[in-house]
Amino acid sequence: MTLVVLKFGGTSVGDASAMRQVAQLVRDARTQWDHVVVVTSAMGKPGVIHTPSDNVKVTDTLLNSARKAADGDAHAYQRARRELADKHQAAIDGVVSNAEDRRAISEDIERLLAGFEMLCASVRVLGEVTPRALDAVAGLGERMAARILAGALRSAGISSQAFDSTDFVVTNNNYQSAVPLMELTRERVRSKILPVLQIGIVPVITGFIGATEAGVPTTLGRGGSDYSGSIIGAALDATEVHNFTDVNGVLSTDPRIAPDAHTIDQLSSTEMSELAFFGASVLHPMTIAPLVEQAIPLRVKNTFNARHPGTLIVYDNSKVDDFRAPDKPIKAVTIIEQVSMVTVSGRGMRGVVGIAGRTFTTVARTGTSVYMFTQASSEQNICMMVPQLASETIKIALLGEFERELRNQEIDAVQVVDDVAIITAVGLGISRRPGVSGKIFGALGDQNINILAIAQGSSECGLSLVVSGGHGRDAVRALHTLA
Ligand code: ASP
Ligand code: MG
Repeated sequence: MTLVVLKFGGTSVGDASAMRQVAQLVRDARTQWDHVVVVTSAMGKPGVIHTPSDNVKVTDTLLNSARKAADGDAHAYQRARRELADKHQAAIDGVVSNAEDRRAISEDIERLLAGFEMLCASVRVLGEVTPRALDAVAGLGERMAARILAGALRSAGISSQAFDSTDFVVTNNNYQSAVPLMELTRERVRSKILPVLQIGIVPVITGFIGATEAGVPTTLGRGGSDYSGSIIGAALDATEVHNFTDVNGVLSTDPRIAPDAHTIDQLSSTEMSELAFFGASVLHPMTIAPLVEQAIPLRVKNTFNARHPGTLIVYDNSKVDDFRAPDKPIKAVTIIEQVSMVTVSGRGMRGVVGIAGRTFTTVARTGTSVYMFTQASSEQNICMMVPQLASETIKIALLGEFERELRNQEIDAVQVVDDVAIITAVGLGISRRPGVSGKIFGALGDQNINILAIAQGSSECGLSLVVSGGHGRDAVRALHTLA
């Protein structure tokens, strides 16, 4: 028995014509696989904008309205309700052919939007919006999209039914970036979905959302529908998971920075994790995790160019196609901008136990996650890259923590350099082939780009370099010549 999970992103369900395309892909998949399961994002912006409501990205609109409601704004959510009603109704009218079905779906959407307005009204009364409330609001987009997409499939002659994953994806209560409890989830997904598949129905499941064991709605974090696709795929022991987006797979870099960016045909899961962590926005960073144990292949494909093979992600590093031209030793280059470099330094730090530990604990207490850090073996400084927005808070926290050491001159300074960029070169070749780091440094040297700090990823398939913000994009272009 073969089973494929097809996950569609916001652009892929952005309007009626995109949904028709999805229906076509589902129809094709049914000729190739015994069972097809669909997971959908909320409606995003379609590729071509025809009407004002095309411009609405549903999840953004939902979240912005709730935040504005907390600030006392009652107009924003009322306006949003109308815009959202228009956008979804236009999709229904454009893609659901049966009048009875159209009416039923419209009623469902009306009910969900009425719930949205009520939630925002209570947020406004309370004057604050909790992460828990934001999750309840944010998940409405997927609920609406799943209903319409299931209708679109039925109109294309495919039996289909929409499902809210709050009924079977069980998560912890870490609102806004919840994590699934896999054992419970597996049990529930199977008991809900397998019987449906047995009778030939294509389930259309909401991405992005889950619920705690007590039934409180949660979300898996922005972009979390990718993660949902993999969670559902793992729970159902899928043969493959196909993640459909609006580009031809994972690109070698951001095409807005290097127009010659190309699709990578094969990536190992370690390379993919490195890419996702260091800013490639194509997949939610957790997407691979549920698939690793069962080694379920993941393909990243383009809804609007489905003939393109896309990118295949595999798990066994030794099976990754690494037969690459010698002048192209790396696979991809990423950039994270608006980063600050925080350095704790002092000659007296040498050999003093616990400074590094306290530094990280202090930063962790500010709620910031550190992109990368380096410590020279001389132990005279510890250097961390953090989001620029957090740099001032971190500096104050560190000055407080090390007040005594600063007074005793065990620590000389806590310094912040704003506006730096982290450039990461990714590829198994970096550790497999001698001389690759030399080429990387050479490419930057040729462009006169100064390197402020270096770290090699623990996975040994990434090399991260910190450069000044002004050099960031040039550095990407320079390294991309090696990809
Ligand atoms: N709709 C959610 C978001 O915009 C989840 C997703 O699209 O993956 O973040
Ligand atoms: Mg996405």
